[in-house]
Amino acid sequence: MRIYNSLTKQVEDFKPIDLEKVKIYCCGPTVYVHSHIGNWRTYLLADLVNRVLNLNGLKTDFIMNLTDVGHLFEVGDDPEGGEDKVEKQALEEGKTAKEITKFYIDSFLSDYKEFNLTQPRKFTKASEYIDNQIDLIATLEEKGYTYETSDGVYFDTSKFKKYGELSGLSVEDVKEGARVEVNPEKKNSTDFALWKFSPKDKKRQQEWQSPWGVGFPGWHLECSAMVLAELGDSIDIHVGGEDLKMIHHQNEIAQSECATGKKFVNYWVHGAFLSIDGGKMSKSLGNVYTLNDIKLRGYTAMDLRYLFMTASYRAPLNFTWESMQNAQNSLRKIYEIIGSYEQDPNAEISEKYVKKFKDALDDDLNMPEALAVVWELLKSNIPESSKLNTILKLDEFMGLKLDEHIGYEIPDNISDIAKMRKEYRKNGIWDKADVLRREAVDLGYIIEDLPDGTYKIKKKF
Ligand code: AMP
Ligand code: ZN
Repeated sequence: MRIYNSLTKQVEDFKPIDLEKVKIYCCGPTVYVHSHIGNWRTYLLADLVNRVLNLNGLKTDFIMNLTDVGHLFEVGDDPEGGEDKVEKQALEEGKTAKEITKFYIDSFLSDYKEFNLTQPRKFTKASEYIDNQIDLIATLEEKGYTYETSDGVYFDTSKFKKYGELSGLSVEDVKEGARVEVNPEKKNSTDFALWKFSPKDKKRQQEWQSPWGVGFPGWHLECSAMVLAELGDSIDIHVGGEDLKMIHHQNEIAQSECATGKKFVNYWVHGAFLSIDGGKMSKSLGNVYTLNDIKLRGYTAMDLRYLFMTASYRAPLNFTWESMQNAQNSLRKIYEIIGSYEQDPNAEISEKYVKKFKDALDDDLNMPEALAVVWELLKSNIPESSKLNTILKLDEFMGLKLDEHIGYEIPDNISDIAKMRKEYRKNGIWDKADVLRREAVDLGYIIEDLPDGTYKIKKKF
């Protein structure tokens, strides 16, 4: 498999550190708002990277973080000059920081499931890794990479010779090009906070004791600390949106490599941005669309998944309602076609199409090409039952839940089992309900409980 590495700026052969398990980390959401569809484009990329590795027979160990503390708003030229996003939102909604993060984490996880994204081994919360972050600062301090100012402990980027390797902007470049330096106590414009002291005049909701004083960790630090704690000093792949490359990811590299002395990440995979109607998403334009917004217009998470797959992850994608409609039409067409296919669980899976599909993905995740192979398969003249089994195999990568759209009748005895099971569940007789669920599985059907209390019966493949 070949993939573009932002660090070397080349498409490279992927070579895992450990053949048994590929270590992947993706920067997750700051949980003070609902995630928008641009965010979901990036999370889909992390999902597809996991899936393509799985298709190549590799297992992955995947971690995604939830930023519930320490992410500050940018002000002018200063990327961390503003208020804490979570604390500010808490104030605005008249809730505690904990209530805010819980609410938006629940919203995120529910959408995450609906998009059918690869479940990480863990969603790590920054607030649960405070000790790791303090230890990391202590290590950096011991090694002479830090200095203290009146508002926090900073990383001295001039001490890291490779600073700028990922972003392409060295400490000197930034110095020369710097406009207003917002924080005059910083030695270099590129220096960043590892620990921020709580303001003297205000009590923060989220703050901790540290050897340097009461405060909270800087945003960049959390990702390093969680990667090191959960995956180790060196990982295979780090995913994120392209906006994070210049500062956040460059800083992650600086902290981690200075602390461990080892290479932090072998492959940096950055997703291009999603724009809306040719421009940026913004609150004032009212176009910061969430999954809920697209559902209100009659589209599904799967329609959006399909839309995202029509473009290369490295190409900017412009979202319009027309493109959304086209994606839905295409996906519905696939449902319609496969819904009419005869089923035969023993029908042969076409190796030819699986290979073509995989070849496209192995070529730097060429998703538009892979989708073209899907359509070629559907139009081919191999037996329908083979086409069906083949597309279901391909859907292990696409994640479009196509198995829910194949045409089959649920036999009466299975419907009866499901109805009876629902009665048991209603009355809290869980053991009997469970026996019935297993009975259905033995007969080749899965009864899936839906969040609204109803259920769906699916054929087992
Ligand atoms: P944030 O919550 O802003 O930190 O963003 C979470 C993730 O979504 C990061 O990986 C960002 O790079 C990514 N992201 C933010 N906006 C967009 C966008 N318009 N298109 C694609 N990815 C985005
Ligand atoms: Zn991060």
